[in-house]
Amino acid sequence: MSENKKIEKIVGVKGMNDILPADAPLWELFENTVHSVLKSYGFQQIRTPIVEPTALFSRGLGEVTDIVEKEMYSFTDSMNGDNLTLRPENTASVVRAALEHNLTYDGPKRLWYAGPMFRHERPQRGRYRQFHQVGAEALGFTGPDIDAELIMMCQRLWDDLGLEDIRLELNSIGNAEERSKHRTDLIAYFEQHKELLDTDAQRRLHSNPLRILDTKNPTMQDMVNAAPKLLDYLGEESRAHFEGVQKILNHNNIPFTINPRLVRGMDYYNRTVFEWVTDQLGSQGTVCGGGRYDPLIEMFGGKPTPACGFAMGVERLLELMKASGEQYAPNQCDVYLVHQGEAAQLQSFVMAERLRGAGLDVVLHCASASAGGSFKSQMKKADASGAAFAVIIGEDEMANATATVKSLRAEEGESSQQVTIPFDGVPDYVVDQIVGDHDHDHDHVHYHP
Ligand code: ATP
Ligand code: MG
Repeated sequence: MSENKKIEKIVGVKGMNDILPADAPLWELFENTVHSVLKSYGFQQIRTPIVEPTALFSRGLGEVTDIVEKEMYSFTDSMNGDNLTLRPENTASVVRAALEHNLTYDGPKRLWYAGPMFRHERPQRGRYRQFHQVGAEALGFTGPDIDAELIMMCQRLWDDLGLEDIRLELNSIGNAEERSKHRTDLIAYFEQHKELLDTDAQRRLHSNPLRILDTKNPTMQDMVNAAPKLLDYLGEESRAHFEGVQKILNHNNIPFTINPRLVRGMDYYNRTVFEWVTDQLGSQGTVCGGGRYDPLIEMFGGKPTPACGFAMGVERLLELMKASGEQYAPNQCDVYLVHQGEAAQLQSFVMAERLRGAGLDVVLHCASASAGGSFKSQMKKADASGAAFAVIIGEDEMANATATVKSLRAEEGESSQQVTIPFDGVPDYVVDQIVGDHDHDHDHVHYHP
C-alpha cells in the first residue's frame, strides 16, 4: 500500500532570497535597462559557470581577503574529489574564460556579466549569502580613457534608472612598487598605534595592511584617517594616469571626490579604484565598486594584459529604486479569456493562441469544463488580473461563432463597453482598441507587435 508521507516543512537557505512575482517587474526593468546601457557602450555579454575550481579564487583574489578567508562556499565534489567553490564574484571567472578561449587574440574586449554570487556572510539589510551582481570587464586597454568610460557608463545607468544620490569616490592605489614603499611606512605607523588596532587589523598588520584602511570599526577611524596616504607615493606614470581619468570626468561634468582611504577588497587591483556610494541604505551603502587590475591576467598565466572593471550589487540598487517612490507597473495582461461549456473551452484555446499571435498577453481561464467556475467568478478573476479586456465565449457565442469583448477599464462615469464580434475579427479589434488607447494610457499597454 502506498502512503504519501508528509515531510517536514522545508524552508530556503538562510541569506538566500526568493524573488517573488510582485518584485519581478522591478528586476525586469533593471535588467532591461542594464542590457541596453551596456550595449550602447559596445559591451558584449559573457556567461560563466556558477561553480569554479576553488583555486581560481584562492589564488586569484589573494589569500588575505574577506572572501577567501571566510566567505567562500567551497565543497568537495563527491564524485571525483575536486575542490569546487560557488563563485563569490565574477572577475576571476571572466579572466579564466578569456584566457581559456583566447578572447583578446584580436584586440581588447569590452565584456559584461550578470548573475548570482555566493558569500557566507552574516545576512542583514543589503548583505545576503546569495546576491546578484552586474559587472563589466574591459580587457586589454591601457589608458585612463577606459577607466573613465566605465565610470560614465555607471553614471548613465543610474540616470536611466532614475537613481539620484549616488556619489562617486575615486582613488589611485598606484603600482606594486609604489604600494610597497607606502606599505613599509604604513606598517610603521600602525605599529606606533598598536593599542588602537582591533583583532582583524592586528592580524592584517603584516599580511595586508592596506586593508586596515578599509576598516569599518568606528574607534579606528581617526587613527586611520591620519595614516600615510598612498596618493603621496605615486610615481610619474601612476599620477599621469590618475590625472587622465579625472580630466575626462571633469570634462563630462561627472562629479567625484577623491577618497585617499579607498582601497578595494581584492589584492589584484592597481591604479584607479572607485566606488559608488549612497547614504540611503544604512551601513551597506556601496552599490558599485571597481578599478584597474592590470596584474591579474599575467598572474593567471596569460600574456601581460591590462584590465579594468566594476561590479555592482543588484539588491542594493533595487532597494534604492524602491525608495525613490517610483511606481513600477505590476504584472498585467491584455486579455483574460472567459469561457462556459466544453465546446467553448476548446474554442477558447484557439482564440487565445490567435490573440497571442497578434502580440497580446493573454491569460486563459483554466479549470475543467464541467466545473469551470461560474460566469460571475470568472469575471471577478478577469478584473483581478489587471487585463484591459475580457474576451468571453459562452454557449450563445459558440452558436454564432462570435465572442463578446468587454472593456474592463471603463473610466469613471463611462459605461463599460461591450461588443460582440465574429471570432475572426477579435484579435484586430482588441489590438486596435489597445493601440488607440496608447496615447493616454501608457502604463497598461503591453502590446508589442
Ligand atoms: P562590502 O565592503 O560591502 O562587503 P565588497 O567590497 O565585499 O563590499 P565587492 O566584492 O566589491 O564588495 O562587490 C561589489 C558590490 O557587490 C558591492 O559594492 C555591493 O554592492 C555588492 N555586494 C557585495 N557583497 C554583497 C552581499 N553579500 N550582499 C549583497 N550585495 C553585495
Ligand atoms: Mg564584502
